[in-house]
Amino acid sequence: VAAPSRAVDVVVVGAGQAGLSAAHHLGRLGVAARADSTPVADPARDAGAAGVGGFVVLDGDDGPGGAWRHRWPTLRLDKAHRIHDLPGLTLAEAVPDADPGTPAAEVMTRYFAAYERRFALPVRRPVRVGAVREAGDGRLLVETDTDGVWSTRALVNATGTWTSPFIPFYPGMSEFRGRQLHTVDYRTPDEFAGQHVVVVGGGASATQLLAEISEVAGGTTWVTRRPPVFNEGPFDELAGREAVARVERAVRAGRPPASVVSVTGLVMTPVLLAARERGALRRQPMFQRLVADGVVWADGRHQRADAILWATGFRAALDHLAPLGLRGPGGGIAMDGTRVAADPRVHLVGYGPSASTIGANRAGREAARAIVRWLAG
Ligand code: FAD
Repeated sequence: VAAPSRAVDVVVVGAGQAGLSAAHHLGRLGVAARADSTPVADPARDAGAAGVGGFVVLDGDDGPGGAWRHRWPTLRLDKAHRIHDLPGLTLAEAVPDADPGTPAAEVMTRYFAAYERRFALPVRRPVRVGAVREAGDGRLLVETDTDGVWSTRALVNATGTWTSPFIPFYPGMSEFRGRQLHTVDYRTPDEFAGQHVVVVGGGASATQLLAEISEVAGGTTWVTRRPPVFNEGPFDELAGREAVARVERAVRAGRPPASVVSVTGLVMTPVLLAARERGALRRQPMFQRLVADGVVWADGRHQRADAILWATGFRAALDHLAPLGLRGPGGGIAMDGTRVAADPRVHLVGYGPSASTIGANRAGREAARAIVRWLAG
């Protein structure tokens, strides 16, 4: 472990919705933004000095926007579920010329950039955190690829899920001669014009991508492990709160967080209604294996395919926290609100029940308040 070059009170990892909300509230509560752009010459002076505090945000991306930067161009504002404003500056104020047809990636990148400027948030990028370890003196060491090692009293982890795509294993994956891609690789439906595409997955991304691909593809096949549950009713505030409460109970008990769709069902949007009308939402059970030219089910049925889109979701991007040994026997991290139950220095925001833009806002506020109380002893 390298010696820490700088010491702060709080390191926020990740500058998506959750990290920016936490940073905003830390600032509002009087924690100073540490804007030093160069490492100090004398590490001992900084790391050991009393009264050295403040917070920084370390973000692995090249520019603002969190995971929104990477979302496919056909995901426009009017197709997003609902993007909640960050605290203190609305999207409409920050990007007054955004119209509903603009790609969310473009608008959100501009919004987050304006937000970081408005509140002078000390975001350092591109800085990827590789590991967080015990310093031995009650502090944590945050090791980065390009920004040395930070020593901190508390950590807000806001790394989302986008960098941790999940693809399940199926036999024959290496035999298939067509294209295999995950949601993170998807750009535009035109790439699949005339092709037969198998879409795997029962979540919101799977159905959205299936809907738009089915408009141009030669054919589509939709497979999911369990029959999808469509939520035909209005998805109101109450239904949202109930869904969040269910995920919250799971993470409190130390279970890995369930996907949002597993608790809400698939909310029927106009795009999905139109796809169903066209017959594109006929679901089949999961195939058994891949073969060179397609997929095969247990009963021997075969479907030729040019491409397989694994819209099979994400895992929380927490590998860098592994040295802290936070995972319990259930495979999850037991949580008390945003705080890791076993370690009051570590908060996870945008995790489990707060993995939505509104949840991320609230979690950032809760974590900032709890940390400020805890720092004050
Ligand atoms: P992110 O936006 O993923 O930000 C995480 C940041 O952490 C990134 O900048 C990343 O570079 C950085 N990072 C990751 N690992 C490291 C590391 N080791 N070191 C340094 N930095 C790191 N929610 C809604 O409320 N409405 C929607 O319409 C909606 N649409 C969605 C569509 C898709 C396709 C997906 C996948 C999700 C959608 N969500 C939506 C969920 C929503 O995007 C998230 O809950 C929320 O925006 C995530 O914010 P976040 O800050 O937790 O993570």
